[in-house]
Amino acid sequence: MISSLFNKNLGTINYFQKGKSPKLLLMSGTHGDEYGVIQPLKNIIDKYSEKLPDFIFIPEVSPTAVKLKTRRNKFNHDVNRNFFENTDDPEAKTVMNIVANFNFKMGISFHEDIEYDSFYMYDSEKMDAKMLNNFKTNVKKLGVGLYSGIDDVHDVELGATIQDGYVVDPAAPDKIKVGDFWHWSLINKYVKRLLYPEIPSSLTIKNKLFLIDLIFKDLIFPLLNERI
Ligand SMILES: [Zn+2]
Repeated sequence: MISSLFNKNLGTINYFQKGKSPKLLLMSGTHGDEYGVIQPLKNIIDKYSEKLPDFIFIPEVSPTAVKLKTRRNKFNHDVNRNFFENTDDPEAKTVMNIVANFNFKMGISFHEDIEYDSFYMYDSEKMDAKMLNNFKTNVKKLGVGLYSGIDDVHDVELGATIQDGYVVDPAAPDKIKVGDFWHWSLINKYVKRLLYPEIPSSLTIKNKLFLIDLIFKDLIFPLLNERI
C-alpha cells in the first residue's frame, strides 16, 4: 500500500518514495483540471506497489492547480511551462528539486485529455512494435478509441501529429525554453525514457482504472523488465 511507503514532502509538494534507489518516476496532477486521473492512479499504484521496483510517486505536481481544478495554478502559471532553470514557479521549482536527485530509468506523467474521448500517449523513444500493438489491442478491447490528429496542448511550438493513439516526441535541447517537464527532465538526463499517457477525462472511473492498469501491465512492467 502506498500509505505504508515512506511519505515525504518538500515545501508544499507531497510525494511517496519506495526504497533507496528509485528507478521509476510516477506523476499526476500537473494540470488541476485533470484531477480525475489522480485517485484511479493511486489505486493502481496500491495494487502494484509491492511488485514495482523502487519508485517516487508525486500525485499532485501542482497542488494549488488541483485544489482550484484549473489548468493554471494559484500563481497563474501553467506549471508545465515552468520547468526550466531559474523558474519563478515555486511548485515547478520544488518538483525539479525532488526529481534532480535521481536518475530514473523511466518516468510516466499521467495527464487527462478533457477535449477528446479517445486515448493517446507520448513516448520519448520509439516503442517496440509488438509491445505497442498488444497494448493498443487491449485498449480497444475496453471500448476506448485511439486518437489520431493534432495535439497542440503539450507542444506549443509544433502541434504533434498523433497516429492511432501514439506519438514519439524525442526531447530536443532547443525546446527546454518551452518549460515542459518533458524536455527539462530528458535533456538533463534525470529521466531516461518518458511517457505521457493522456487519459480521456470523460471515461468512467472503472474504465480509467482498467486503462491505467493496462499501462502498468502492458508497458511499465515490460519496459522495466520486471515480472508482474
Ligand atoms: Zn495535462
